[in-house]
Amino acid sequence: QWIFLNGEFVRKEDAKISVYDHGFLYGDGIFEGIRVYNGNIFRMKEHMDRLYESGKSILLNMPYNQEELSDLVIKTVEKNGLRDAYIRLVVSRGVGDLGLDPYKCPSANVVIIVEPLAIFPKHLYDTGIDIVTVPTRRNRPDVLSPKVKSLNYLNNILVKIEAHLANVSEALMLNDQGYVAEGSADNVFIYKNGKLLTPPGYIGALEGITRNAIIDIANELGYKVSEEPFTRHDVYTAEEVFLTGTAAEVIAVVKVDGRVIGDGVPGEHTNYLLEKFRRKVIEEGEK
Ligand code: PLP
Repeated sequence: QWIFLNGEFVRKEDAKISVYDHGFLYGDGIFEGIRVYNGNIFRMKEHMDRLYESGKSILLNMPYNQEELSDLVIKTVEKNGLRDAYIRLVVSRGVGDLGLDPYKCPSANVVIIVEPLAIFPKHLYDTGIDIVTVPTRRNRPDVLSPKVKSLNYLNNILVKIEAHLANVSEALMLNDQGYVAEGSADNVFIYKNGKLLTPPGYIGALEGITRNAIIDIANELGYKVSEEPFTRHDVYTAEEVFLTGTAAEVIAVVKVDGRVIGDGVPGEHTNYLLEKFRRKVIEEGEK
């Protein structure tokens, strides 16, 4: 396995970063998780746009322009000879001193990791998953925009811990007003009364690329789709609930806080949208 590290390809064992890196010391940096399907990088431009917008928002000097970095991502995938893979692209503020001043970090560290896929076990797509809602809240968008995909994932990690403590594999966090925001690393959709709903970005959800692909697909299929705030009550009483993300794709949720969703099995719309999503990733790659 070859890792891209600041301009060079190095073996996994040799891919090392200083303990003075501010990504390590302070979570000062940004990242993307991207999928390769059948040798094609899914919605690469959207991921790179989001990365560069995140960088701009936190005043991170990117050592490559967007085109150069996109080429390096492609080269790293090719170098590893993988046709179906997960890419992790990380840009940290770089090495500085122990103070948190980012102006003392002269150059960002850029890492690209490409790994074989670690998809959720297949049986979970057949059965759906149980989830809970947790006390940890999504940070307020006016404090740190959820559009910045930063290395500060402590909220999300606490959500994951709370999921483990409740013996389930994933959990939903609410925003500061109690509206449902998103999962630890995925977006949420509910289907009710002929409408597909997902929380808008402004309430504190990352505008996921898989989420946006599902919105496109659902619109193309003639679904009524709306980005609007909803509460736990709406989730509990939905006919279908599912999560979306680069790693998870589309996965059905069959129980939330002990309330059975619909018939307790993945719903027809969820299955249909997953099937169409899987078709779309192949079609987009063939273009
Ligand atoms: N929400 C959070 C907090 C995430 O970290 C992610 C994935 O990285 C998502 C949602 C899903 O976004 P995407 O579909 O772009 O992977």
